[in-house]
Amino acid sequence: MNVQKRIALVAHDHKKQDLMEWAKYNRDTLSEHILFATGTTGRLLEELLQIPITKFHSGPLGGDQQIGSKIVEGEIDFMIFFWDPLESQPHDPDVKALLRMAVVWDIPMACNRSSADFMISSPLMKQAYNRNLPDYQTYQQRDVVTS
Ligand code: PGA
Repeated sequence: MNVQKRIALVAHDHKKQDLMEWAKYNRDTLSEHILFATGTTGRLLEELLQIPITKFHSGPLGGDQQIGSKIVEGEIDFMIFFWDPLESQPHDPDVKALLRMAVVWDIPMACNRSSADFMISSPLMKQAYNRNLPDYQTYQQRDVVTS
C-alpha cells in the first residue's frame, strides 16, 4: 500500500459516537488519506470533518459487503471498524464476512479505539508497506476430488 492509504471507516449505531470522537481528534491525519465509509457513518463523518468521503450503502443494506468486495479487489488498504460487541445486528453475517475478508487479505484493522489509536500513530502510516499475503494462487489451483 502507498503512503496515502485508502481507509474504510464503519461504526455500528452505538459505536458511532466513539468513532466520531476518534475521527475528530485524528482529523488532520485522516485528511491526508482517501476515505471510504458505510452510508450513515460516512454521512456523519463528512458533516463532522468536512472531508469528502466515498460513501457506500448503509451497512445493513449491503455497505459492509461493498467494502468487503473493495478489499478483495485491492482497493481498500486499511479499516477502522467499531462493531458493537453488546448487540446483535440484522446483518451479522455481513459483519462476519467483512471481518473475515480483512484477515484473508491482511488488511490492518482496528475494532476499538485503543487499537485505532495505535494503528493511526504507527510510523507505517507515513510509509509505503508491502503486505505479505499467503500464496492464494496455489490455493486456487489445488486439486479437488470430484466424482
Ligand atoms: P452505517 O452502517 O454506517 O450505514 O450505519 C454501519 C454498519 O452497520 O455496518
